[in-house]
Amino acid sequence: MSTPYWQEWQQNLRSKLSDAVFNENFSGVKPLMVSANRMVLSVPPHVKIDILQQVYKGLAEFAWAEVSGQKINFEFTEETQTPSKEVSTPFTQIPRIKLNPEYTFENFVSGSNSDFAIHSAQGVTEELGNPRYNPLLIYSGSGLGKTHLLQSIGNRIRRIHPEKVICYIPADDFTREYTQALQHKRIEDFNNYYRNQVDILLLDDIHNLSGREGTQTALFHIFNTMHQAKKQIVLTSDTEPRLIEGLHDRLLSRFSWGLVVDIQPPEIETREAILRHKAEREHLELSEEVIDFIAKAVDTDIRTLEGVIHKLLLRATYKSEDVSIDMARGIVQNLGTILRPKAKTEDVVQVIANYYNLNPDHILSPQRGTKEISTARQVAMTLLREFSNLSHKSIGNRFAGRDHATVIYAIKKVNDMYEKDLQFRREMDSIKNQLK
Ligand code: ADP
Ligand code: MG
Repeated sequence: MSTPYWQEWQQNLRSKLSDAVFNENFSGVKPLMVSANRMVLSVPPHVKIDILQQVYKGLAEFAWAEVSGQKINFEFTEETQTPSKEVSTPFTQIPRIKLNPEYTFENFVSGSNSDFAIHSAQGVTEELGNPRYNPLLIYSGSGLGKTHLLQSIGNRIRRIHPEKVICYIPADDFTREYTQALQHKRIEDFNNYYRNQVDILLLDDIHNLSGREGTQTALFHIFNTMHQAKKQIVLTSDTEPRLIEGLHDRLLSRFSWGLVVDIQPPEIETREAILRHKAEREHLELSEEVIDFIAKAVDTDIRTLEGVIHKLLLRATYKSEDVSIDMARGIVQNLGTILRPKAKTEDVVQVIANYYNLNPDHILSPQRGTKEISTARQVAMTLLREFSNLSHKSIGNRFAGRDHATVIYAIKKVNDMYEKDLQFRREMDSIKNQLK
């Protein structure tokens, strides 16, 4: 499609970034649809859509306004791909997402938070279909590397066994394929494809199957056929499988047949290692002081860490300056909106203790304590979950090693009270404001 100003825009943007940065983030990006105030851009698989959205969108729009005199809003969407022969899917129009070649084990920085998950993922590629790892299920909070690891498995298998049919698909797309197959009376093709053609199924974000009865039933039968044929299945989800609401027991039990592993938020040393790795790949020089500063300040997830690196890169190339600690500080402060407030257990507990006039030690104590204390503890668990990336299990650990079921119960109860009890809601809101 020919779009006025497109080439001028590219030139203008290129002049604001270095060639390397432009090529990495904008090569192959194409206009899909333009209207008076918005433009949809298609993004090829080698470009990180997250980074475009978080880092370059504003500058790209600005560059557009400069050449066209029009302020428009850019939206980025993954490039629609004509499915390659091996994954031709006659039953649906839904484009298949290809494996991102950047998502490899070599590019995945290990740490004590992810060692076991990496080890298991590599194990899968060495012993395809081994019931010990079939299925492998990886879970973690968002931005901690599930998709990266899942696709690393795909990329490695593709290298060792080029003849295998590998199907990477997010659960949402799987649901849409199923629905379309139903509508178009192609359900047999759908089943045949997954049950007989696919050798390796990499199903991302299965928590999105929640409440999808039909899709779950279809998956159940696919699972059984594949598993019997010793074909490998790898799944990811944002919580432990048994905490996924609206998931059939029979699927749940299948998902737990093999190995379930988690990725925890990285410790500071790992965050530093990740920063070094990313900076090196981007040819961005960072002093130890800057690395240390960012690693301390950004402790939520790796997607956000990556965003910081790209913002630094943008600023450094735009201004032709070296990265200084002030530059880093400015960027981290501006993250405020996307960075969930850092919630340290002690801070949360302290604020709640002050609010209810309690002793924080009692809230953290293994003893149940008075009703007041136990409610304050439940509130603390709930807010910690809301304001941090911690799993139920790690929250439990922080409260004298209570188990994850206690935490889930607490959150449920607090949410119920929040719904029903106006006074309680006011208290919670006020505590939340203090935490922000
Ligand atoms: P999730 O699927 O859990 O939400 P992703 O796999 O999409 O997270 O990871 C978010 C971003 O962070 C990706 O760009 C990924 O490459 C990067 N990333 C995550 N974990 C690591 C790691 N351990 N080492 C290097 N990069 C990582
Ligand atoms: Mg993901």
